[in-house]
Amino acid sequence: MVIFSGMLLFMVRLWMIQSIDTEIMDHSDLLWRKLYKYQTSFDSLSSKRDIQFLLNSESSSRRYFTWIVNTDSQIVAVSNNVYQINTSLTKKLPVRVLTDKPQFTSINDLGFSHRCVAYPILVTPDSTTVFSFENHAYPVMGWVITASSSVPVTDLISSLTRLLIGMVILCMIIATAFALVLSDFALRPLSEIVDTAKTITAAHLSTRIQSSGNQDEVGQLVSTLNHLFDRLEASFEQMGQFTADASHELLTPLTIIKGELDLALTRDRETEYYKTSLNNALVQTNQLILVTQTLLKLSRSEIEAENQGLEYIDLKILVDSLFRQLNFLASQKRMVLEEKLENPLPLIQTSENLLHTLLFNLIENAIKYSPPGKKVTIRSRVHPTSGKFTLDVVDYGLGIADEEKKNIFRRFYRVEKSRAKITGGSGLGLSLVSKICELLNLEIEVTNNNPMGSVFSVSFPADSVFY
Ligand code: ADP
Repeated sequence: MVIFSGMLLFMVRLWMIQSIDTEIMDHSDLLWRKLYKYQTSFDSLSSKRDIQFLLNSESSSRRYFTWIVNTDSQIVAVSNNVYQINTSLTKKLPVRVLTDKPQFTSINDLGFSHRCVAYPILVTPDSTTVFSFENHAYPVMGWVITASSSVPVTDLISSLTRLLIGMVILCMIIATAFALVLSDFALRPLSEIVDTAKTITAAHLSTRIQSSGNQDEVGQLVSTLNHLFDRLEASFEQMGQFTADASHELLTPLTIIKGELDLALTRDRETEYYKTSLNNALVQTNQLILVTQTLLKLSRSEIEAENQGLEYIDLKILVDSLFRQLNFLASQKRMVLEEKLENPLPLIQTSENLLHTLLFNLIENAIKYSPPGKKVTIRSRVHPTSGKFTLDVVDYGLGIADEEKKNIFRRFYRVEKSRAKITGGSGLGLSLVSKICELLNLEIEVTNNNPMGSVFSVSFPADSVFY
């Protein structure tokens, strides 16, 4: 606004000065035409009287002050109103303006500013001669000087300045008040979010920010934050559950170890007794190690999935390596590991480490929960319509009852405690499998293998399978 006001004042002043200049120029031109007949006899007494009369009659009715100057800068005649105001006006006219072209200047007299033009009186062949001031060869015999007060301009400019200053101040006040109200209105939802967010702690994770229902930026922020709190609450709950379960699972073997050691130390025992006690403690220690290792794998699987890039995996190589690792376990139970993979096999884009852990657990379980002498088969198939690629881990073992199928993927869940005890499981293998499936976007399903056993089927999304 300040810049605009400055420019406005400058332009108004310029326009007004220009209009005064045009007026005094026209007036001078008019006088020049009337003075034409005196061109050669400026100095005679009668001419001076006539010129004086002319100036008075032309200038008195108007607000112009006029005087005639000859080439010696001598005043030939002055309009009466010049005397009425101040004669010093004539003396203040700078000589440099007396040239062969009209020259404008501003002069101050008694605190009043005036706009003046020195209009050359050219000796032309006749009064109708057309010429240009820019380019003429006529001699100059004097000048018509016309002045007009520029006080109206200064008055107008100062009034306009006061008005604009007032307007700028008023606008600033209104704009500030408006901005304060607007920012208060716009930021209120944000301060509400801040207030609510401050009240949300680990102990009060169920609090949510009230949503206005609008889908603007603030509405989106609120729903994003609420979703974040949902996820945080879910992970806090999971963590709490996990810690409770883990403590429980670790406590059992530790209590058994403590009991065995306490009993052995109460009095002197046979060597055989110590051996049995230490053996029992060793079994429980192994169980502790197994649980801890699986817990570690569970917590690391997420980080691994994030950090490891996806690779193209040749399933044949992966299954062969798994069979080599698990052959010892299978041979202990006189079991055969069989591979029925399609030819050609597709490449799968996934995380090799995680897929390895997943299949390892499934094959290990198939061996663990099958009676000796049976076989475990890994087969692949492609769904005829959807093109989905599936790997099946098939066993001919104990099978899983239908009502247990949904539970076996829960942490620390075992179908029958006694059975698990014999096999030495931790109840974490399948929850690790299900976690990996979630991370790699795989589907897992358990079905019965007729007439006996179970089939664990892992399906890969079509966009990760490449032939
Ligand atoms: P763990 O094997 O350490 O007990 P898992 O999470 O791997 O724990 O398995 C959970 C339960 O599911 C096991 O205790 C077992 O009873 C049952 N289970 C898993 N795989 C099989 C299988 N192939 N056949 C029969 N039961 C199984």
